[in-house]
Amino acid sequence: MQRRVAVIGAGPAGIHAAAALAEHGVAVDLFDSLPTPYGLVRYGTAPDHRRIKEIVVALRQALDRSGIRFFGNVDYGRDLKLAELRRSCHAVIFATGAAVDRPLPIPGIDLPGSFGAADFVAWYNGHPDAPRDWPLAAREVAVIGAGNVALDVARMLAKPAAEQLITEMPDNVWRGLVANRARDIHLFARRGPAQVKFTPLELRELAESPSVAVVVHPEGAELTPEDEAMIKRSRQRRTVVRTLLDWIEQGSSLGADGGESEPGSERRRIHLHFRAAPVAVLGAGAVTGLRTERTTPDGDIDGDMITGTGEFADWPVQAVYRAIGYRSVPVPGIPFDESTGTVPHRAGRVVDLDGSVVAGVYVTGWIKRGPVGLIGHTKSDAAETVASVLADLDRLPAPEVPDPGETKRMLREKGVDFTTLADWDRLDAHEISLGRARGRDRIKVVARDTMIKLGRNP
Ligand code: NAP
Repeated sequence: MQRRVAVIGAGPAGIHAAAALAEHGVAVDLFDSLPTPYGLVRYGTAPDHRRIKEIVVALRQALDRSGIRFFGNVDYGRDLKLAELRRSCHAVIFATGAAVDRPLPIPGIDLPGSFGAADFVAWYNGHPDAPRDWPLAAREVAVIGAGNVALDVARMLAKPAAEQLITEMPDNVWRGLVANRARDIHLFARRGPAQVKFTPLELRELAESPSVAVVVHPEGAELTPEDEAMIKRSRQRRTVVRTLLDWIEQGSSLGADGGESEPGSERRRIHLHFRAAPVAVLGAGAVTGLRTERTTPDGDIDGDMITGTGEFADWPVQAVYRAIGYRSVPVPGIPFDESTGTVPHRAGRVVDLDGSVVAGVYVTGWIKRGPVGLIGHTKSDAAETVASVLADLDRLPAPEVPDPGETKRMLREKGVDFTTLADWDRLDAHEISLGRARGRDRIKVVARDTMIKLGRNP
């Protein structure tokens, strides 16, 4: 009997899992709630990260492996249930990622003008479920967090729209960025320069725009003897700290006066502040500021490794973005550990909260290991999960209806308007040709129904 596996989520994690299974002769049905494949590469990577976007070339080749069928615009939970998948498949792998912002429970966080990075990232990437317009009237903006998403958000807010025109951004986003009034973007790291989660390349990229000065504020950027020891042990950390200290020495990434506001200057500044933890978003009815508290290291590895010093500062800003990490949402029908925001597993095999294996159900990617690591890491992660699936397949109960026609029949019976890989290829070619005609990589189509329509009939 042909061995059949369903994979839920066609981002890099799901595609790598599907490809590894197909290599072993397993037939794979790969589902995504979006009409298109590529998940986070298409909808999470910033448009100006054109090199990272090129990963889609390898992912598309992976999808060409015989035995993989793509079903887009299929919502697991609403259109498909676990029991239905198990009727026709030996096993199911969940690769649904981490798509929502971690909460930041501080006063004022729900004020209008306070945003989660995930929502902003979805907007600037033209996600079909994101709003079409984004309020960008704030001149002074705070970004909370010191990871690569915080860098993306700060850079997207700071870089003039004209410098982003060559990318794949949709027209509504381009128009929004043209109207963006942000001039001073303050990024707050709650710990010191040696503890940031930035990677060296992404940090340096912050200063690549000739219109953007990066200003590192020296207060809080001092290194402790523990920091010095830590830096010695990690080349990556050393490079990041060196870059930050160089910018302090130079006055800014653009030299001594780069951070000064010349009258009438359209220069934008990204300010980096260290040891400043957010304690409240200020305002009544709309954001008017952010209050931070100076922190000091306390060495408590069970906590956040910092203590507040009672020294507060208020920053006048009209918008706040929190980029403090993503979180997965529970998947209907399988266990979820709220404390880690992931599905409990052993080598990819889903386990109940009591530790017993849920036969035939697996996870891979961010829903398995949490929202950390670069896209490249999804491949080795998928290899571990697929090894578990392959080791179990012959022992798993055979599906009731092992018929490859069952998936389409079931979706059609439910009236699900699913898309195929051929539909995506047509939409892809259409977006690229729209872009080429205007000197851009591509112009993304945003509305779900238009994506589906153009995929069938460009
Ligand atoms: P991240 O790397 O985990 O960074 C989260 C940041 O938020 C940390 O600096 C963390 O500080 C801070 N934070 C957490 N809770 C906080 C709180 N209550 N108050 C203040 N700050 C808080 O997460 P991410 O930036 O979302 O990135 C997710 C993954 O995607 C990472 O692996 C990243 O490298 C990757 N990514 C890569 C790129 C790229 O261009 N290559 C782009 C985007 C994302 P603490 O360390 O103190 O907890």
